[in-house]
Amino acid sequence: MIGTQSGTQRTRPEAKCPLRPHEVCNLCQMNVTGPHDCGLVYLVMSDPDLRAEWGERRHVSR
Ligand code: SF4
Repeated sequence: MIGTQSGTQRTRPEAKCPLRPHEVCNLCQMNVTGPHDCGLVYLVMSDPDLRAEWGERRHVSR
């Protein structure tokens, strides 16, 4: 059968937190299921000043 892998179990990749690039999303915000519906990520990414500051911090931490 096409598309099946007998004997193996596929796992979903863990989503990384966009605000903490080295960490997996730990659902720290209420009522979220991941970064895709995280209000904090949306808030930071939709605010030009916060987004610029986040970019600078991310660049410095590398
Ligand atoms: S809930 Fe949002 S802020 Fe918290 S770890 Fe996940 S993506 Fe990051």
